[in-house]
Amino acid sequence: MISKVIGESRKIVIKIGSNTLAQEDGTMNRSFMDSFARQCAALAREGKQIVLVSSGAQVAGVSTLDRWARKKDIHYRQALCAIGQVELMQNWREAFAAAGLHIGQLLLTREDFNDDQRTLNMRNTIFTLVDEGVVPIINENDSVSYEEIRIGDNDNLSALTAILWSADLLILFSDIDGVYDKNPKEYPDARHVAEVGDLSVLRSGIVIGATNGFGTGGIATKLEAAEKVTAYGIPMLLANGSVPECLTALADGRSRGTLFLARE
Ligand code: ADP
Repeated sequence: MISKVIGESRKIVIKIGSNTLAQEDGTMNRSFMDSFARQCAALAREGKQIVLVSSGAQVAGVSTLDRWARKKDIHYRQALCAIGQVELMQNWREAFAAAGLHIGQLLLTREDFNDDQRTLNMRNTIFTLVDEGVVPIINENDSVSYEEIRIGDNDNLSALTAILWSADLLILFSDIDGVYDKNPKEYPDARHVAEVGDLSVLRSGIVIGATNGFGTGGIATKLEAAEKVTAYGIPMLLANGSVPECLTALADGRSRGTLFLARE
């Protein structure tokens, strides 16, 4: 079913979580990025269009300037994102260039999605980049966002992006291969959910546990993202980014995930 959904989708938004982009020591997982860019290029050759939503600016900032690692102050965190965003994009640029693709960067805030003129401009920019074969890479503009105007997590940002671009599919790559009835990091007997038709039924049947590592949203924001896109007729897939060749494996039906079916 998952490979069929990917096969039938032309416009795909893919979100990569911090835990997938960061290694245990907090440095960027460059081999993942290189492999991921190659897989995107292979899909592009099949006629698919890809928009990336990439977390990881803070992680990249910490790994560049490790003397700030323990600073929790908001100004330092925003400053770290300013540093890390450059580092993050430099890695993506090199990874995609090696795969023969150009990238473009969009840094967005909640206010951008609430303003008709900005929304139109963002939409036009994304369409133009993609039409020209450039891969847009989107992140929240953390250095200008404060609590009240933040989207707050890239799960919701990627859902808003998928709706804005009228995508056919949203894929979230996390460090987990889908939703379970309870957090499998705490409960080894947790059961995997392969397909979700009704989100309210899912919500009443599972326990949402804590997030881990660099993750910000956890499963709760992934369900919010599913809620948003499926209401617009866009299916969503939650899958594990640490599986080798994660995107190709998913497209070939070699790895599993949770598929949230689009509501009509
Ligand atoms: P990312 O950085 O990829 O967005 P997060 O750490 O924010 O990832 O969220 C994924 C984590 O949510 C998983 O690694 C898992 O430990 C945790 N989690 C909590 N409850 C559940 C659940 N019911 N099913 C699956 N994962 C869960």
